[in-house]
Amino acid sequence: MVNQLQVRNPRSGKIDYFITPPTATEIAAKCISLRTAQIEWQQLGIEKRVEVIQQWKKSLLSDQEKLNKALVNDTGRVIESRIEIESVINSIDRWCNLAPELLATGETKTTTIPFIQLQNHLIPYQLVGIISPWNFPLLLSLIDAIPALLAGCAVIVKPSEITPRFIQPLLETIATVPFLQDIFTVIEGAGETGANLIEYVDFICFTGSVATGKKIAEETAKKLIPACLELGGKDPAIVLDSADLELATSALLWGSVVNAGQSCLSIERIYVAESIFTEFITKITEKAKSLKLNYPNIESGEIGPIISAQQADIITEHLQDAVSKGAVIHCGGNVEKLDGGFWCLPTVLSQVNHTMKIMTEETFGPIKPVMSFATVEEAIRLANDTIYGLSAAVFAGSETEALAVASQINAGGISINDAGLTALINEGEKNSFKFSGLGNSRMGADGMKRFLRKKAILTKVNSVPNPWWFD
Ligand code: NAD
Repeated sequence: MVNQLQVRNPRSGKIDYFITPPTATEIAAKCISLRTAQIEWQQLGIEKRVEVIQQWKKSLLSDQEKLNKALVNDTGRVIESRIEIESVINSIDRWCNLAPELLATGETKTTTIPFIQLQNHLIPYQLVGIISPWNFPLLLSLIDAIPALLAGCAVIVKPSEITPRFIQPLLETIATVPFLQDIFTVIEGAGETGANLIEYVDFICFTGSVATGKKIAEETAKKLIPACLELGGKDPAIVLDSADLELATSALLWGSVVNAGQSCLSIERIYVAESIFTEFITKITEKAKSLKLNYPNIESGEIGPIISAQQADIITEHLQDAVSKGAVIHCGGNVEKLDGGFWCLPTVLSQVNHTMKIMTEETFGPIKPVMSFATVEEAIRLANDTIYGLSAAVFAGSETEALAVASQINAGGISINDAGLTALINEGEKNSFKFSGLGNSRMGADGMKRFLRKKAILTKVNSVPNPWWFD
């Protein structure tokens, strides 16, 4: 019996797409074939691999309308879909430029023992498996695939079952490029398919929730293969009394509302010095009220639908929990069902505290709970009172003040006088702290180096007996 899965449209709520996950046997066969082709892919060398990936870029550009249409249907929003495609194109160019230098090896070096020479070689993992989420479906399926392919690995991607419409047009772009489809593929499926995939690969890149990340950590540990886990967050922002309020409110509105708050590094809680608290709430509420849903016209407004129906329930639960414990809503405040899709206007809340889910659990919606603090020490304590440690933001009148706070926040990336910069600045190497993830940085040179194992070749260069040998 064919195991078909239904896919819900985020704007209409209707089931309008179906996927057919491969069986475990089919995944195993695909992986064997990818492994076989990888040997030649690695031997091609970086210049030739760059040529193939550049050809794929041309194919992506010529098919971008088709890809964009599928992404828009997957996510119900337009602007961010275009940004996803642009980011992938930029990522291809950036990695193609960086790869030759990052992969250069073979230089012979002297060692601490004069008659032993060293060469370091870089050996790619043969087959990398990528499991991705629904919030930026294309970008997060390819962000790790591009450096892995250039490093010489074969790659198999399993995107989210919630947003799979882009897979077929993406496969078409891959199929037009000689060699590429032999070493790179994308499969449809849900959690079971992701779990099956782990069995057949040498490395896992996972982007998704903490709950799934922990399961993947267990399974990859049993197989003794590396896993880079990019998980959830509850990013805090601290606004000191010296901050520029005009700038802070505009940056934090963008940082908490872009993609309708469905970003791992969305600002999910804001701590504001009590002397400027009222003014802050007034300003950010005024700005939040000016943003509109992209409903019913998809080309209008800034806020797309809540893509996952399950996430809409979580947002509602967090809002209800907060209000039942005394939170005050200044604008927005509920998830509306319009034509079967779920929508939430930018929401500002005050009178919040850490007994509320909205301050402690990932909400993943356009919600800004704002809490006042009396001292900088209290603000830092509150920002660090979390199981997460993805990123954060600090707003202050001087860089010295901001840096003093930033250095005490337990998170992998901190934006100063701005929000969400870690998603935009590709060279900023960073690790996720606490439950927000595990493994080397996806950003910076490490983003490619993770896929390479170092091999040391040590050569004895004379025929004189070594002093430590048996006589
Ligand atoms: P999710 O964990 O539910 O699913 C992610 C992927 O894992 C999907 O492809 C899913 O099919 C697959 N999966 C589910 N169970 C599995 C299993 N047992 N074994 C293998 N694969 C399995 O996450 P989601 O709801 O799709 O994504 C939202 C989450 O992703 C949020 O927590 C968000 O913060 C996080 N995220 C993190 C980053 C980052 O870079 N840190 C970026 C984007 C999203």
